[in-house]
Amino acid sequence: MNAEPLRKILALEREKGYDDSAVFGGLNKFLNNWSEQAVESVSNPETLRSFRKLFKTDYASMTVEERKEWVANVLDFLDELEGKSSVSEKTETKKVRPKSIKRPAKPKKAPAAESVKGLDLPVTAVRGISTALAGKFGKMGVKTIRDLLYFFPHRHLDYSRLKSISQLAEGEEQTIIASVWQAQETRPGGRRSTEAIVGDETGNIRVVWFNQPYLAKKMTTNSRIIISGRVSLFKGRHVFQSPEWEMLESQDYVHTGRLVPVYSLTQGLRPRQVRKLLKDFIDLWAWQVEDFLPPDLINRLGFLELPQAISQAHYPDDENIKDKARRRLAFDELFLLQLGVMGKKRDWKEGRPGSPFTIPRSLLDAFTESLSFKLTAAQDRTLREILTDLEKPEPMSRLLQGEVGSGKTVVAAAALLVAAANDLQAAFMAPTEILAEQHFATICELLSRVGQEEGEGYLRTYSGLLSRPLTLALLIGDIKQSGKRQLQKAITSGEVDIVIGTHALVQKGVDFPRLGLVIVDEQHRFGVEQRSALRGKGLSPHMLVMTATPIPRTLALTLYGDLDLSVIDELPPGRQTVKTKWLQPEQMASAYAFIRKQVAGGYQAFIICPLIEESEAIAAQAAVVEYERLSQEVFTDLRLGLLHGRLSGEAKDSVMENFRAGSLDILVSTPVIEVGVDIPNATVMMVESADRFGLSQLHQFRGRVGRGQAQSYCMLVAENPSEVGRERLDIIENTQDGFKLAEEDLKLRGPGEFFGTRQSGLPDLRMARLSDVALLELARKEAIAIFEKDPEMKEAEHRLLAWELARVWPETGEWS
Ligand code: ADP
Ligand code: MG
Repeated sequence: MNAEPLRKILALEREKGYDDSAVFGGLNKFLNNWSEQAVESVSNPETLRSFRKLFKTDYASMTVEERKEWVANVLDFLDELEGKSSVSEKTETKKVRPKSIKRPAKPKKAPAAESVKGLDLPVTAVRGISTALAGKFGKMGVKTIRDLLYFFPHRHLDYSRLKSISQLAEGEEQTIIASVWQAQETRPGGRRSTEAIVGDETGNIRVVWFNQPYLAKKMTTNSRIIISGRVSLFKGRHVFQSPEWEMLESQDYVHTGRLVPVYSLTQGLRPRQVRKLLKDFIDLWAWQVEDFLPPDLINRLGFLELPQAISQAHYPDDENIKDKARRRLAFDELFLLQLGVMGKKRDWKEGRPGSPFTIPRSLLDAFTESLSFKLTAAQDRTLREILTDLEKPEPMSRLLQGEVGSGKTVVAAAALLVAAANDLQAAFMAPTEILAEQHFATICELLSRVGQEEGEGYLRTYSGLLSRPLTLALLIGDIKQSGKRQLQKAITSGEVDIVIGTHALVQKGVDFPRLGLVIVDEQHRFGVEQRSALRGKGLSPHMLVMTATPIPRTLALTLYGDLDLSVIDELPPGRQTVKTKWLQPEQMASAYAFIRKQVAGGYQAFIICPLIEESEAIAAQAAVVEYERLSQEVFTDLRLGLLHGRLSGEAKDSVMENFRAGSLDILVSTPVIEVGVDIPNATVMMVESADRFGLSQLHQFRGRVGRGQAQSYCMLVAENPSEVGRERLDIIENTQDGFKLAEEDLKLRGPGEFFGTRQSGLPDLRMARLSDVALLELARKEAIAIFEKDPEMKEAEHRLLAWELARVWPETGEWS
C-alpha cells in the first residue's frame, strides 16, 4: 500500500482548516479511490475490519471537528499499520513493498488556496521549484503544473526485485537491503570516490560510487541501506558500481526498491533531485486533476481514473498497474485527437458549399495521352477518387499519400486542369520556394505537351486546352516587387487560372475571386493552417493534401480523420533499388573517389551538409564552409554548386537550372533539398552526419536519386553515432520500404518528434504507441459514438470533456 499520497492530502487538508478542499471536488472520491486500492494489500482480518470501518465514511458531510478527529485517527492507523509491517528481510525473490517507517506525517506546505485548481500555474508554484529550476524545466517544454504532471518518465528501472547478497546475479536490475560495515573515501584511478562494504546474513559485497566522496560520511557503520542496480564482476568478485541507494530509515522509497522512473533531463538537472521532487509533487498534485472522461465510459472500459493514472505512470506500484496507467493515458491522447479531427472535418464540410466540378473528359484524355509515360494503376485509381470528390457539392478534403517518386505531381496536375476547365482558380502550394519553382517547371512542361505555350518567366499561357487561353503563374517571395504586384493584380482580377507558390500563398494577402481548388504538397501539417486561413476568408474550395510520409492505414484514419484517404501504393515501373551504405569517416577518401567515378560516367551527385540546428542561417553558413572545402581540397577539378536557404531566388534558380542542365557535377546543399527535388541524372546522394536525421528524412534524401535508369547510391556518413543513431543507420541500410521505415522511426523517435506535432497543431502524443492498433480503433470507435450522440458536447456529462477539447484544440469548433 502506498500511503504517501493519502498522508500528503491529509496534511494539506489539515493545513487548510479541514474545509474539504485539499482535493479538487472534495476528498470523498479520492478516499474512495485510495482505499479501494489500498485494501487489497491488507491481509490480516482484524486490520481489514478496522480499515473498512475507518474508510466507510462520508467526509463531505462531517463537521470540522469530526473531520479533525477522523484525520487524526487515520494518520494513527497508518503509522500503526506501517510500523507493523516494515520491509521483510527474509529475502526470497519477491516484490518489495516499501513502507514508510514509522514517522509523524509532517505537514507539507500547501499550494496557495486559490491555486489548488490552477493546473495552468507556472511550475514555480510547486514547493521546491525555484525560478532557476523552473528555467531548466522550461527548456524541456515543462512550464506549468499540468506540463509537470504530464512529464512522464520514458522508462522505469525495475528495482522491485529484492535479493539476498548470495542470490545476486550479474547484469540484472536488482535490489538488496543491507547493513553498512564500513565506508570510506578512496581514489580508484585518481577519482575521489566512496567505497563501502555492506552485508546481510548471506554475505558481503563491495559497493563503489565513483566521484562521490561525500557519500562516505553519510554511510555510518551499521546504518541500514537499500541498494538497487546491476552487479558486475571485478577481479572475480561481485561489485555494485555507482548504484542507486537510499538509507532504509528514509521515507517512501524514491530511487530504490521499486519501479523507479527514468526521466529524460536537460543538463543541470540531476536524476535524484528530479525524482524526489516529482515524487512529492505527484503525490500531492495528481489528485487535483479532474477526470474529463465521462464516468460511464471509464467504468465500461475498465480504465483507471485520471489522477491515479497520472500518479501510477510516474511511480507505479507494479508492472501491471503501470500498463493500466499507460493504457488510460494513451487512450486519452488518441480519443482527444480523434474528437479534434472530427470537429475539424465537420467545420470544413459545414462551410459554404464547395463548387461541384464538371469533369472535362476529352481534355483529361488528351492530357494523359500526351504524357511520356503511362499512368500506373495506382495513379489512375487515385485520380478517379479525386475526380469523384470534385463532382460533389461539398468541398473535397482528401489526403493523397504516396511513396517518394510514386508520381503524385502528375495526378495533381490533372486536378488543376479540371479546376481551370470549370472556370475556377486553383492554387498549388509547396513547402519551399525551390520546390514551388520545380513544380512550376514540371507543370509548364506537362501543359506544353498538350497546348501551345506562350510567355516566359513567371507567367505563361497555354492555348488549345480550353475555349480560352489557360494562364499559369509562379508567385514566390523572390520575384521583384513590381513583378509581384502585377502578378497579384492578375490573380485578384481572376485572370490567372493556376497559381503555384509556397504554403503561405493563401495566407498572405492574395485574394482569389474564384478559388475552386487548393493543393498542398509535402505537407506534414495536413493543411490545417491553410484551411483555417481559407475559412477565415469565407472560402471552402476543394482541398487536396499530398504527403510522402507513409503511415499505416488505421493510424492515418486517426491522425488525419479529417481527411479522406487515397494511396498511391505502387512505383512507376523500372525503378532502381538505391544501394545504401553507412560509412565511417575513415572511408571518406574512397567515398569521394566513388563520386568522382560516377561523375566521370556522366552522372551527378548530391552532398547534404549536416543539420546543425533548426536555423537555416546557421545551416547555410556551414554549407558555405563545406562547399569551399570540397571545391578547394577534394574536387578541385569538378564543377560544384551550392544551394542553401539564404541565397537569393535568382541565385537558387540558376544553381538548380545549372544542375538540372548538367553543367554542375555536384550539388552541395543544406537539408532544404529534402523533399521533392527531381533530377533523374543524379545517381549519388551523400549525407553527412546522417545519424542526426530521422529515418523518414533519410529516406526522403535517398529518394532524390534512383529516379533515372542508372543504378544509384546513397552514402550515409556518420562518426560515432549514438545507440539510436546506429540503430537508425542499420535499418535504413537494409530497408527500402517507406512504410516500414516510418514505423521504425515512430518506435525510435516517438510520434511527437516524428510528426512534429507540436508545430503541426496536433496535440502531442506521449503515451500512445501508434503501433497499438487495438487502442487506436477503440479510441476511434468511442469518439465516433460520442460525436454522434452529442456533437457539440452540450450534455452535462460531457462538460469537462468539452473544456478539455477546447484546451487541446483551441482553434476548432464550438466546444463547450
Ligand atoms: P512524388 O510522388 O515523389 O512527388 P513525382 O511526381 O515527382 O513523385 O514523380 C517522380 C518522377 O516519376 C517524375 O520524374 C515523374 O515524371 C515520373 N513519373 C510519374 N509518374 C510516372 C509513371 N506512371 N511512369 C513513369 N514515370 C513516372
Ligand atoms: Mg513530390
